[in-house]
Amino acid sequence: MDLENFTISSFHKRLLNKEFSVLEIVQTLFKFIETRDKEINAYLSLLKDGAVTEAERVDIALAENKFVSILAGVPLAIKDNILINNTKTTAASKILENYIASYDATVIKKLRSAQAVFLGKTNLDEFAMGASTENSGFKITKNPFDLSCVPGGSSGGSAAAVAANMALAALGSDTGGSVRQPGAFCGLVGLKPTYGAVSRFGLIAMASSLDQIGPITKTVEDAAILFKEIAGKDEFDSTSVNHAYDEILNSSIDKIRKLRIGIPKEYFIGGIDKKIIEGVEQAMEKIKSLKLEFKEINLPHTKYAISCYYIIMPAEVSANLARFEGVRYSSMPEVEEKVKTLRDLYFRNRGSGLGVETRRRILLGTFVLSHGYYDAYYAKAQKVRELIKNDFVEAFKEVDVIISPTTPTPAFKIGEKTKDPLSMYLSDIFTCPINLAGLPAISIPVKKYKLDSGELPIGFQLIGKPFHEADILGIGQFYEKLEA
Ligand code: GLN
Repeated sequence: MDLENFTISSFHKRLLNKEFSVLEIVQTLFKFIETRDKEINAYLSLLKDGAVTEAERVDIALAENKFVSILAGVPLAIKDNILINNTKTTAASKILENYIASYDATVIKKLRSAQAVFLGKTNLDEFAMGASTENSGFKITKNPFDLSCVPGGSSGGSAAAVAANMALAALGSDTGGSVRQPGAFCGLVGLKPTYGAVSRFGLIAMASSLDQIGPITKTVEDAAILFKEIAGKDEFDSTSVNHAYDEILNSSIDKIRKLRIGIPKEYFIGGIDKKIIEGVEQAMEKIKSLKLEFKEINLPHTKYAISCYYIIMPAEVSANLARFEGVRYSSMPEVEEKVKTLRDLYFRNRGSGLGVETRRRILLGTFVLSHGYYDAYYAKAQKVRELIKNDFVEAFKEVDVIISPTTPTPAFKIGEKTKDPLSMYLSDIFTCPINLAGLPAISIPVKKYKLDSGELPIGFQLIGKPFHEADILGIGQFYEKLEA
Protein backbone atom coordinates (compact mmCIF):
# COMPACT_ATOMS: atom_id res chain seq x y z
CA MET A 1 0.00 0.00 0.00
CA ASP A 2 1.55 3.32 -1.03
CA LEU A 3 0.78 5.08 2.23
CA GLU A 4 2.98 8.06 1.42
CA ASN A 5 0.90 9.01 -1.58
CA PHE A 6 -2.40 9.24 0.23
CA THR A 7 -4.03 12.56 0.93
CA ILE A 8 -7.46 12.78 2.55
CA SER A 9 -9.21 13.35 -0.78
CA SER A 10 -7.28 10.68 -2.69
CA PHE A 11 -7.91 8.24 0.17
CA HIS A 12 -11.62 9.03 -0.01
CA LYS A 13 -11.80 8.55 -3.78
CA ARG A 14 -9.99 5.23 -3.66
CA LEU A 15 -12.12 4.08 -0.75
CA LEU A 16 -15.29 4.83 -2.72
CA ASN A 17 -13.76 2.93 -5.68
CA LYS A 18 -13.43 -0.03 -3.34
CA GLU A 19 -9.67 -0.30 -3.95
CA PHE A 20 -9.27 -1.28 -0.30
CA SER A 21 -11.24 -1.55 2.91
CA VAL A 22 -10.67 0.70 5.90
CA LEU A 23 -9.88 -2.35 7.99
CA GLU A 24 -7.09 -3.36 5.59
CA ILE A 25 -5.60 0.12 5.80
CA VAL A 26 -5.83 0.26 9.57
CA GLN A 27 -4.26 -3.16 10.01
CA THR A 28 -1.47 -2.34 7.55
CA LEU A 29 -0.81 0.88 9.43
CA PHE A 30 -0.60 -0.78 12.84
CA LYS A 31 1.82 -3.33 11.44
CA PHE A 32 3.94 -0.58 9.92
CA ILE A 33 3.83 1.48 13.14
CA GLU A 34 5.07 -1.52 15.09
CA THR A 35 8.44 -1.41 13.33
CA ARG A 36 8.73 2.19 12.14
CA ASP A 37 7.81 3.80 15.45
CA LYS A 38 10.63 1.94 17.20
CA GLU A 39 12.99 4.46 15.62
CA ILE A 40 10.71 7.51 15.55
CA ASN A 41 8.88 7.38 18.95
CA ALA A 42 5.92 9.37 17.68
CA TYR A 43 3.17 7.55 19.59
CA LEU A 44 2.64 7.37 23.34
CA SER A 45 -0.24 4.93 23.03
CA LEU A 46 -2.11 3.11 20.28
CA LEU A 47 -5.89 2.75 20.13
CA LYS A 48 -6.10 -0.53 18.24
CA ASP A 49 -9.50 -1.74 19.46
CA GLY A 50 -11.31 1.52 18.86
CA ALA A 51 -9.68 1.95 15.46
CA VAL A 52 -10.66 -1.54 14.30
CA THR A 53 -14.26 -1.10 15.50
CA GLU A 54 -14.57 2.22 13.69
CA ALA A 55 -12.92 0.81 10.54
CA GLU A 56 -15.43 -2.05 10.44
CA ARG A 57 -18.29 0.36 10.95
CA VAL A 58 -17.22 2.45 7.94
CA ASP A 59 -16.70 -0.68 5.82
CA ILE A 60 -20.23 -1.83 6.63
CA ALA A 61 -21.66 1.60 5.77
CA LEU A 62 -19.84 1.49 2.43
CA ALA A 63 -21.00 -2.06 1.70
CA GLU A 64 -24.56 -0.89 2.28
CA ASN A 65 -23.97 2.04 -0.07
CA LYS A 66 -24.65 4.57 2.66
CA PHE A 67 -23.30 8.08 2.36
CA VAL A 68 -19.99 8.52 4.15
CA SER A 69 -18.22 11.81 4.79
CA ILE A 70 -14.84 12.71 3.27
CA LEU A 71 -13.22 11.89 6.61
CA ALA A 72 -14.79 8.44 6.93
CA GLY A 73 -12.10 5.88 7.68
CA VAL A 74 -9.31 8.46 7.56
CA PRO A 75 -6.62 7.28 10.00
CA LEU A 76 -5.62 10.14 12.30
CA ALA A 77 -3.07 10.66 15.06
CA ILE A 78 -4.13 12.80 18.03
CA LYS A 79 -1.84 14.81 20.28
CA ASP A 80 -1.94 13.38 23.78
CA ASN A 81 -3.26 16.57 25.38
CA ILE A 82 -6.62 16.14 23.62
CA LEU A 83 -9.11 13.96 25.50
CA ILE A 84 -10.55 10.81 23.96
CA ASN A 85 -13.17 9.23 26.19
CA ASN A 86 -12.06 6.14 28.09
CA THR A 87 -8.47 6.32 26.92
CA LYS A 88 -5.26 7.32 28.58
CA THR A 89 -4.43 11.02 28.15
CA THR A 90 -1.11 12.06 29.66
CA ALA A 91 -0.07 15.37 28.07
CA ALA A 92 3.33 13.59 28.22
CA SER A 93 3.47 14.23 31.96
CA LYS A 94 4.28 11.62 34.57
CA ILE A 95 1.70 13.22 36.83
CA LEU A 96 -0.98 12.05 34.37
CA GLU A 97 0.64 8.70 33.62
CA ASN A 98 -2.49 6.76 34.60
CA TYR A 99 -5.17 9.31 33.83
CA ILE A 100 -8.09 7.99 31.79
CA ALA A 101 -10.21 10.66 30.11
CA SER A 102 -13.88 10.59 31.05
CA TYR A 103 -15.22 12.44 28.02
CA ASP A 104 -14.40 13.33 24.41
CA ALA A 105 -12.96 16.72 23.48
CA THR A 106 -15.35 18.58 21.18
CA VAL A 107 -12.96 18.19 18.23
CA ILE A 108 -12.94 14.43 18.85
CA LYS A 109 -16.72 14.32 19.03
CA LYS A 110 -16.90 16.12 15.70
CA LEU A 111 -14.35 13.86 14.02
CA ARG A 112 -16.08 10.82 15.47
CA SER A 113 -19.36 11.83 13.88
CA ALA A 114 -17.47 12.24 10.58
CA GLN A 115 -16.33 8.60 11.13
CA ALA A 116 -12.62 9.32 11.27
CA VAL A 117 -10.40 6.63 12.81
CA PHE A 118 -8.10 7.44 15.75
CA LEU A 119 -4.92 5.38 15.55
CA GLY A 120 -3.28 6.63 18.72
CA LYS A 121 -2.10 9.45 20.94
CA THR A 122 1.12 11.22 20.07
CA ASN A 123 4.07 12.47 22.05
CA LEU A 124 4.55 16.14 22.97
CA ASP A 125 6.55 18.38 25.24
CA GLU A 126 5.04 18.01 28.71
CA PHE A 127 1.76 19.99 28.79
CA ALA A 128 2.75 21.36 25.34
CA MET A 129 5.61 23.40 26.77
CA GLY A 130 8.54 23.28 24.41
CA ALA A 131 9.69 23.47 20.82
CA SER A 132 11.40 20.10 20.32
CA THR A 133 9.39 17.33 22.08
CA GLU A 134 12.49 16.77 24.25
CA ASN A 135 10.49 17.92 27.32
CA SER A 136 8.23 14.86 27.15
CA GLY A 137 8.11 12.95 30.44
CA PHE A 138 8.32 9.68 28.49
CA LYS A 139 10.46 9.72 25.35
CA ILE A 140 12.13 11.81 22.68
CA THR A 141 10.55 11.80 19.25
CA LYS A 142 12.88 11.90 16.22
CA ASN A 143 12.55 13.77 12.97
CA PRO A 144 11.80 11.27 10.17
CA PHE A 145 13.95 13.32 7.76
CA ASP A 146 17.02 12.98 10.01
CA LEU A 147 16.88 10.84 13.12
CA SER A 148 19.53 12.95 14.83
CA CYS A 149 17.24 16.00 14.67
CA VAL A 150 14.16 17.03 16.63
CA PRO A 151 10.74 16.97 14.92
CA GLY A 152 9.90 20.34 16.50
CA GLY A 153 7.39 20.82 19.26
CA SER A 154 5.33 20.71 21.10
CA SER A 155 3.22 18.66 18.67
CA GLY A 156 6.35 16.77 17.54
CA GLY A 157 4.76 13.32 17.84
CA SER A 158 1.82 14.32 15.63
CA ALA A 159 4.11 15.80 12.96
CA ALA A 160 6.55 12.87 13.03
CA ALA A 161 3.67 10.36 12.78
CA VAL A 162 2.36 12.01 9.60
CA ALA A 163 5.80 12.63 8.08
CA ALA A 164 6.75 8.98 8.64
CA ASN A 165 3.44 7.81 7.08
CA MET A 166 2.21 6.39 10.37
CA ALA A 167 -1.02 8.43 10.04
CA LEU A 168 -2.68 10.27 7.19
CA ALA A 169 -3.08 13.47 9.19
CA ALA A 170 -3.04 14.62 12.80
CA LEU A 171 -4.30 17.11 15.33
CA GLY A 172 -1.95 19.25 17.39
CA SER A 173 -2.35 22.29 19.60
CA ASP A 174 -0.68 25.65 19.08
CA THR A 175 -0.07 28.12 21.92
CA GLY A 176 3.00 29.85 20.52
CA GLY A 177 3.78 27.81 17.40
CA SER A 178 3.34 24.17 18.33
CA VAL A 179 1.43 23.18 15.20
CA ARG A 180 3.26 25.36 12.70
CA GLN A 181 6.84 24.82 13.88
CA PRO A 182 6.74 20.98 13.91
CA GLY A 183 4.88 21.21 10.59
CA ALA A 184 7.78 23.24 9.18
CA PHE A 185 10.44 20.90 10.65
CA CYS A 186 8.75 17.80 9.22
CA GLY A 187 7.85 19.06 5.72
CA LEU A 188 4.13 19.33 6.51
CA VAL A 189 1.33 21.85 6.60
CA GLY A 190 0.32 23.17 10.04
CA LEU A 191 -2.68 25.43 10.58
CA LYS A 192 -3.28 27.50 13.69
CA PRO A 193 -6.86 28.73 13.47
CA THR A 194 -8.11 32.14 14.65
CA TYR A 195 -8.54 32.22 18.43
CA GLY A 196 -12.12 31.03 19.00
CA ALA A 197 -12.53 29.29 15.63
CA VAL A 198 -12.12 25.82 17.17
CA SER A 199 -13.44 24.70 20.56
CA ARG A 200 -10.82 24.12 23.25
CA PHE A 201 -13.17 21.96 25.30
CA GLY A 202 -11.30 18.77 26.18
CA LEU A 203 -7.86 20.19 25.38
CA ILE A 204 -5.67 20.10 28.49
CA ALA A 205 -5.16 23.83 28.95
CA MET A 206 -1.69 25.32 28.73
CA ALA A 207 -2.32 29.08 28.31
CA SER A 208 -6.02 29.59 27.74
CA SER A 209 -5.88 32.96 25.97
CA LEU A 210 -3.42 31.56 23.40
CA ASP A 211 -4.28 27.85 22.89
CA GLN A 212 -5.91 26.61 19.68
CA ILE A 213 -6.22 23.10 18.25
CA GLY A 214 -5.14 22.77 14.61
CA PRO A 215 -4.47 20.18 11.90
CA ILE A 216 -1.07 18.90 10.78
CA THR A 217 -1.36 17.47 7.28
CA LYS A 218 0.48 16.62 4.09
CA THR A 219 -1.36 19.19 1.99
CA VAL A 220 -3.11 22.52 2.41
CA GLU A 221 -6.28 20.94 1.06
CA ASP A 222 -6.17 18.32 3.82
CA ALA A 223 -5.72 21.06 6.42
CA ALA A 224 -8.79 22.83 5.03
CA ILE A 225 -10.85 19.62 5.14
CA LEU A 226 -9.96 18.90 8.76
CA PHE A 227 -10.30 22.51 9.86
CA LYS A 228 -13.78 22.77 8.35
CA GLU A 229 -14.84 19.72 10.31
CA ILE A 230 -13.53 20.84 13.71
CA ALA A 231 -14.43 24.56 13.52
CA GLY A 232 -17.52 26.13 15.04
CA LYS A 233 -19.27 27.37 18.16
CA ASP A 234 -19.42 25.01 21.10
CA GLU A 235 -21.58 25.52 24.16
CA PHE A 236 -18.74 24.13 26.31
CA ASP A 237 -16.22 26.80 25.23
CA SER A 238 -17.54 30.32 25.66
CA THR A 239 -14.67 31.74 23.59
CA SER A 240 -15.70 29.74 20.52
CA VAL A 241 -17.66 31.41 17.74
CA ASN A 242 -19.59 30.43 14.68
CA HIS A 243 -18.25 31.44 11.31
CA ALA A 244 -19.22 30.17 7.87
CA TYR A 245 -16.26 28.58 6.10
CA ASP A 246 -18.09 27.59 2.91
CA GLU A 247 -15.44 28.80 0.51
CA ILE A 248 -12.54 27.19 2.20
CA LEU A 249 -12.18 24.35 -0.29
CA ASN A 250 -13.03 26.05 -3.53
CA SER A 251 -11.71 29.58 -3.66
CA SER A 252 -11.29 30.95 -7.18
CA ILE A 253 -8.03 32.28 -8.55
CA ASP A 254 -9.75 35.60 -9.32
CA LYS A 255 -10.62 36.06 -5.68
CA ILE A 256 -7.14 35.03 -4.57
CA ARG A 257 -5.54 37.53 -6.99
CA LYS A 258 -7.30 40.37 -5.20
CA LEU A 259 -5.41 39.58 -2.00
CA ARG A 260 -2.47 41.87 -1.26
CA ILE A 261 0.46 40.28 0.55
CA GLY A 262 2.55 42.13 3.11
CA ILE A 263 6.23 41.44 3.78
CA PRO A 264 7.07 42.55 7.34
CA LYS A 265 10.57 44.04 7.48
CA GLU A 266 10.92 42.91 11.12
CA TYR A 267 10.57 39.23 10.15
CA PHE A 268 13.54 39.24 7.77
CA ILE A 269 16.26 40.18 10.21
CA GLY A 270 19.88 39.16 10.69
CA GLY A 271 20.50 35.88 12.45
CA ILE A 272 18.02 33.86 10.41
CA ASP A 273 19.53 30.82 8.70
CA LYS A 274 20.42 31.60 5.06
CA LYS A 275 18.54 28.54 3.84
CA ILE A 276 15.35 29.82 5.46
CA ILE A 277 15.62 33.19 3.72
CA GLU A 278 16.32 31.50 0.38
CA GLY A 279 13.37 29.13 0.90
CA VAL A 280 10.90 31.87 1.77
CA GLU A 281 12.09 34.01 -1.15
CA GLN A 282 11.59 31.06 -3.44
CA ALA A 283 8.02 30.62 -2.16
CA MET A 284 7.38 34.34 -2.65
CA GLU A 285 8.53 34.13 -6.29
CA LYS A 286 6.12 31.27 -6.88
CA ILE A 287 3.24 33.17 -5.28
CA LYS A 288 4.15 36.23 -7.37
CA SER A 289 3.72 34.08 -10.47
CA LEU A 290 0.05 33.76 -9.45
CA LYS A 291 -0.06 37.55 -10.00
CA LEU A 292 -0.61 38.63 -6.42
CA GLU A 293 0.53 42.04 -5.29
CA PHE A 294 3.30 42.26 -2.67
CA LYS A 295 4.06 45.21 -0.43
CA GLU A 296 6.48 45.92 2.39
CA ILE A 297 4.86 46.54 5.77
CA ASN A 298 5.92 47.24 9.36
CA LEU A 299 5.17 45.36 12.55
CA PRO A 300 7.24 47.61 14.84
CA HIS A 301 6.59 45.84 18.17
CA THR A 302 7.74 42.41 16.94
CA LYS A 303 10.93 42.68 18.97
CA TYR A 304 8.94 42.55 22.22
CA ALA A 305 6.87 39.50 21.27
CA ILE A 306 9.06 36.77 22.80
CA SER A 307 9.40 38.62 26.12
CA CYS A 308 5.70 39.38 26.18
CA TYR A 309 4.80 35.75 25.37
CA TYR A 310 7.17 34.40 28.02
CA ILE A 311 5.38 36.47 30.67
CA ILE A 312 1.74 35.99 29.68
CA MET A 313 2.07 32.29 28.82
CA PRO A 314 3.72 31.17 32.11
CA ALA A 315 1.26 33.31 34.11
CA GLU A 316 -1.60 31.37 32.53
CA VAL A 317 0.32 28.09 32.81
CA SER A 318 0.77 28.59 36.56
CA ALA A 319 -2.97 29.13 36.98
CA ASN A 320 -3.99 26.21 34.74
CA LEU A 321 -1.52 23.76 36.22
CA ALA A 322 -2.55 24.52 39.80
CA ARG A 323 -5.02 21.63 39.44
CA PHE A 324 -2.08 19.22 39.24
CA GLU A 325 -1.32 19.78 42.89
CA GLY A 326 -0.15 16.22 43.36
CA VAL A 327 -3.26 14.80 44.97
CA ARG A 328 -6.14 14.61 42.53
CA TYR A 329 -4.26 13.47 39.44
CA SER A 330 -1.21 11.88 40.92
CA SER A 331 -0.35 8.36 39.93
CA MET A 332 1.40 7.82 43.26
CA PRO A 333 -0.17 6.13 46.27
CA GLU A 334 -1.48 8.83 48.56
CA VAL A 335 -0.30 7.37 51.80
CA GLU A 336 3.14 5.99 52.20
CA GLU A 337 5.45 5.65 55.17
CA LYS A 338 7.82 8.42 54.13
CA VAL A 339 5.08 10.97 53.54
CA LYS A 340 4.06 12.31 56.91
CA THR A 341 2.49 15.67 56.12
CA LEU A 342 0.37 17.08 53.33
CA ARG A 343 3.27 19.33 52.42
CA ASP A 344 5.53 16.29 51.99
CA LEU A 345 2.91 14.75 49.74
CA TYR A 346 2.74 17.82 47.51
CA PHE A 347 6.52 18.04 47.30
CA ARG A 348 6.99 14.39 46.52
CA ASN A 349 4.23 14.07 43.93
CA ARG A 350 4.77 17.37 42.15
CA GLY A 351 8.54 17.03 42.41
CA SER A 352 8.63 13.69 40.65
CA GLY A 353 5.47 14.14 38.55
CA LEU A 354 6.40 17.39 36.81
CA GLY A 355 9.47 17.92 34.64
CA VAL A 356 12.06 20.68 34.83
CA GLU A 357 10.60 22.94 32.14
CA THR A 358 7.10 22.65 33.57
CA ARG A 359 8.35 23.59 37.02
CA ARG A 360 10.36 26.48 35.58
CA ARG A 361 7.24 27.92 33.91
CA ILE A 362 5.03 27.48 36.98
CA LEU A 363 7.63 29.33 39.04
CA LEU A 364 8.02 32.09 36.44
CA GLY A 365 4.25 32.41 36.20
CA THR A 366 3.63 32.67 39.93
CA PHE A 367 6.45 35.21 40.14
CA VAL A 368 5.07 37.55 37.45
CA LEU A 369 1.64 37.39 39.07
CA SER A 370 2.84 37.94 42.61
CA HIS A 371 2.14 41.01 44.69
CA GLY A 372 4.72 43.69 43.97
CA TYR A 373 5.70 42.28 40.58
CA TYR A 374 2.30 42.06 38.91
CA ASP A 375 2.36 45.60 37.54
CA ALA A 376 6.00 45.46 36.50
CA TYR A 377 5.61 42.22 34.54
CA TYR A 378 2.12 40.85 33.92
CA ALA A 379 0.23 44.15 33.57
CA LYS A 380 2.98 45.59 31.38
CA ALA A 381 3.03 42.48 29.18
CA GLN A 382 -0.73 42.82 28.66
CA LYS A 383 -0.16 46.38 27.40
CA VAL A 384 2.58 45.20 25.08
CA ARG A 385 0.24 42.47 23.82
CA GLU A 386 -2.21 45.22 22.81
CA LEU A 387 0.56 47.03 20.92
CA ILE A 388 1.48 43.84 19.08
CA LYS A 389 -2.16 43.22 18.21
CA ASN A 390 -2.49 46.77 17.04
CA ASP A 391 0.51 46.40 14.70
CA PHE A 392 -1.48 43.74 12.87
CA VAL A 393 -4.67 45.82 12.84
CA GLU A 394 -2.72 48.64 11.16
CA ALA A 395 -0.95 46.30 8.73
CA PHE A 396 -4.23 44.72 7.70
CA LYS A 397 -5.48 48.12 6.56
CA GLU A 398 -2.89 47.93 3.78
CA VAL A 399 -2.71 44.21 3.02
CA ASP A 400 -4.86 41.08 3.39
CA VAL A 401 -2.27 38.43 4.17
CA ILE A 402 1.25 38.59 5.65
CA ILE A 403 4.10 36.29 4.63
CA SER A 404 7.09 35.33 6.78
CA PRO A 405 9.38 32.45 7.65
CA THR A 406 7.81 29.99 10.12
CA THR A 407 11.05 29.41 12.04
CA PRO A 408 14.49 31.03 12.13
CA THR A 409 16.26 27.69 11.43
CA PRO A 410 15.44 24.24 10.03
CA ALA A 411 15.16 21.32 12.48
CA PHE A 412 18.04 21.38 14.99
CA LYS A 413 19.94 18.48 16.52
CA ILE A 414 18.54 16.57 19.49
CA GLY A 415 20.24 17.98 22.61
CA GLU A 416 21.45 21.13 20.84
CA LYS A 417 19.26 23.58 22.76
CA THR A 418 18.20 21.71 25.90
CA LYS A 419 20.80 23.39 28.10
CA ASP A 420 19.90 26.85 26.88
CA PRO A 421 16.18 27.66 27.34
CA LEU A 422 16.57 31.12 25.81
CA SER A 423 17.80 29.80 22.47
CA MET A 424 14.93 27.26 22.54
CA TYR A 425 12.45 30.07 23.22
CA LEU A 426 13.79 31.97 20.20
CA SER A 427 12.43 29.22 17.91
CA ASP A 428 9.01 30.82 18.51
CA ILE A 429 10.03 34.27 17.32
CA PHE A 430 7.84 34.28 14.17
CA THR A 431 4.98 32.19 15.50
CA CYS A 432 4.16 33.46 19.01
CA PRO A 433 3.18 37.02 17.95
CA ILE A 434 0.33 35.45 15.97
CA ASN A 435 -1.05 33.73 19.09
CA LEU A 436 -0.72 36.96 21.06
CA ALA A 437 -2.81 38.67 18.38
CA GLY A 438 -5.28 35.74 18.06
CA LEU A 439 -4.85 35.50 14.27
CA PRO A 440 -4.98 32.51 11.92
CA ALA A 441 -1.68 31.36 10.37
CA ILE A 442 -0.46 28.44 8.35
CA SER A 443 2.97 26.95 7.76
CA ILE A 444 3.47 25.52 4.29
CA PRO A 445 6.53 23.56 3.16
CA VAL A 446 8.77 25.07 0.52
CA LYS A 447 9.86 22.59 -2.20
CA LYS A 448 7.82 19.79 -0.72
CA TYR A 449 8.54 17.09 -3.27
CA LYS A 450 11.98 18.19 -4.37
CA LEU A 451 14.24 18.02 -1.34
CA ASP A 452 17.84 17.06 -2.14
CA SER A 453 19.11 14.16 -0.11
CA GLY A 454 20.27 15.29 3.32
CA GLU A 455 18.27 18.51 2.99
CA LEU A 456 15.87 19.41 5.80
CA PRO A 457 12.40 20.81 5.14
CA ILE A 458 11.67 24.52 5.43
CA GLY A 459 8.33 26.19 5.98
CA PHE A 460 6.94 29.62 5.24
CA GLN A 461 4.08 31.21 7.12
CA LEU A 462 0.97 32.97 5.84
CA ILE A 463 -0.88 35.06 8.42
CA GLY A 464 -4.50 36.12 7.87
CA LYS A 465 -7.07 38.53 9.29
CA PRO A 466 -9.26 37.11 12.08
CA PHE A 467 -11.56 34.39 10.70
CA HIS A 468 -10.06 34.76 7.22
CA GLU A 469 -8.69 31.21 7.14
CA ALA A 470 -10.11 31.06 3.61
CA ASP A 471 -7.48 33.58 2.42
CA ILE A 472 -4.41 31.75 3.71
CA LEU A 473 -5.78 28.32 2.81
CA GLY A 474 -6.76 29.63 -0.63
CA ILE A 475 -3.31 31.03 -1.47
CA GLY A 476 -1.80 27.86 -0.02
CA GLN A 477 -3.87 25.62 -2.25
CA PHE A 478 -2.90 27.51 -5.40
CA TYR A 479 0.75 27.54 -4.31
CA GLU A 480 0.57 23.80 -3.78
CA LYS A 481 -0.70 23.25 -7.32
CA LEU A 482 2.35 25.09 -8.67
CA GLU A 483 4.63 22.91 -6.54
CA ALA A 484 3.10 19.59 -7.52
N1 GLN B 1 7.43 26.52 21.82
C1 GLN B 1 6.46 27.32 22.50
C2 GLN B 1 6.59 27.15 23.98
O1 GLN B 1 7.47 26.49 24.39
C3 GLN B 1 5.09 27.01 22.00
C4 GLN B 1 4.40 25.89 22.66
C5 GLN B 1 3.03 25.64 22.11
O2 GLN B 1 2.63 26.25 21.12
N2 GLN B 1 2.31 24.76 22.76
O3 GLN B 1 5.83 27.69 24.74
